[in-house]
Amino acid sequence: MEHFDVVVVGAGLAGIQSAYYLHHDCPDHSYIILEARDDMGGTWDLFKYPGIRSDSYMHLYGYSFNLWPGPNELASGSRIKNYIKQTAEKYNIDKQIRYNHKATAIEWKNDRWHITLENRPTVTCQFIMMCAGYYDYDTPHSPIIPSKDEYAGTIVHPQHWTDIEYKDKDITIIGSGATMVTLAPELAKQAKSVTVIQRSPGYTASAPRQRAGFVYKHLWDDFKFWRFCQTNPADAAKLLTRPGYDKPNYYPWEQRVCLTIDNEFFDCVDSGKIRLITGVVNNYDKDGIKLTTGQHIHSDIVVTATGINLKFLGGVSIIVNGTSINIHDSVLYRGTKFTGIPNLVASFGYVNQSYTLRCKLISQYAVRILKYMKKKKYNTCIPEVDGPRSTPLLQSNYFVRAMLLYPGRIWKYSDNYFKEWFSFKFCNIKKGMKFK
Ligand SMILES: Cc1cc2nc3c(=O)[nH]c(=O)nc-3n(C[C@H](O)[C@H](O)[C@H](O)COP(=O)(O)OP(=O)(O)OC[C@H]3O[C@@H](n4cnc5c(N)ncnc54)[C@H](O)[C@@H]3O)c2cc1C
Repeated sequence: MEHFDVVVVGAGLAGIQSAYYLHHDCPDHSYIILEARDDMGGTWDLFKYPGIRSDSYMHLYGYSFNLWPGPNELASGSRIKNYIKQTAEKYNIDKQIRYNHKATAIEWKNDRWHITLENRPTVTCQFIMMCAGYYDYDTPHSPIIPSKDEYAGTIVHPQHWTDIEYKDKDITIIGSGATMVTLAPELAKQAKSVTVIQRSPGYTASAPRQRAGFVYKHLWDDFKFWRFCQTNPADAAKLLTRPGYDKPNYYPWEQRVCLTIDNEFFDCVDSGKIRLITGVVNNYDKDGIKLTTGQHIHSDIVVTATGINLKFLGGVSIIVNGTSINIHDSVLYRGTKFTGIPNLVASFGYVNQSYTLRCKLISQYAVRILKYMKKKKYNTCIPEVDGPRSTPLLQSNYFVRAMLLYPGRIWKYSDNYFKEWFSFKFCNIKKGMKFK
């Protein structure tokens, strides 16, 4: 059986970042990256719908050790994927990736992890860095709409978009989130018509394609705006509600605020290129969909931009010393480790800031733990804490739906980057953690 000091699960943005810090700061630790797919990039390899792009600016969304080569911009999915690839190649991380290696189970026994892989021999390791993202790649969220079989057109979820010919077609998009806000203006450039059906409207802000100036000032400004939304929700709602547009039934940042570049989405709606309808889809029929009001929308293509399904820790089953672990029974320790699970760190980013910022803090924290364990000749580390009940980070349906998959309690988790920067770097590593 092959054995490594560390196994990183996932070769997306976070997996490559974790591997870099491991490679750089713990050169004496052997490691591999297990990747279920046949390429790296994760999210930026999976999503291929027209217009796919970041809604974070790249000087904070990119890696601090290998800066984004262009201006501080919102970048397309394919450029982000290339950048992740080039980074991996530059630091020889690509050589450590094992493609088509999907972890299905992890079992801690005899003081090491045994990782079961789909159709491949098991590998063992001392420590796992779980960088498997947070959502299900195979099954997005697709509410059941009756009479689907009657419909003669094309139905596609953005997560599974391939080459679909949409020029001069009537397109209906169901959904009101970030994907819809990005996709609709892009489709409107070539489609005959684009109709958006939103059950309830969301908040969208306009931002320039590029942002000049000192990035840490932007970080602080964005954080201040997010705090303003938390402390003055009604004022924030007024600020972000556009005259003539339907009002969302929640406050900004209770769900994610979407971003459109240079008013593009609003311009398309105002000029009639995008028809925005607040309503509920009732059923499909032969040539389109019907709303509960009886209104019929002719559609050659229906795009179900209805969201993702959250998936925790790459969907692996977990056994520790013969006992099966239910994550919901664990306490989430510093937003990255779990009570009852030894020698494992999981990467999760912020919902209110660039995802990469938090994954970097976690990678560096994992390296701190590994170095400490080596110095003290410890073999295991496991959190032993308790904390208050966890609540969803956002009120978005996909978060609320997934609460049972998520640890039921939390200990020292914050969505404040500045606070976490300090605590991950300088916290007492032994606090709430048992080393053996
Ligand atoms: C369309 C879209 C746009 C986004 N835009 C932004 C943005 O602008 N700014 C921002 O901050 N965040 C954004 N996000 C959040 C985004 O997911 C993260 O920023 C980031 O890409 C996540 O990286 P990751 O490596 O943690 O996960 P992923 O990108 O999901 O990569 C996880 C990798 O792990 C692999 N994997 C999973 N399970 C297993 C397993 N069991 N065995 C082996 N391999 C496995 C997957 O195949 C994948 O390659 C966006 C998300 C989406 C869906």
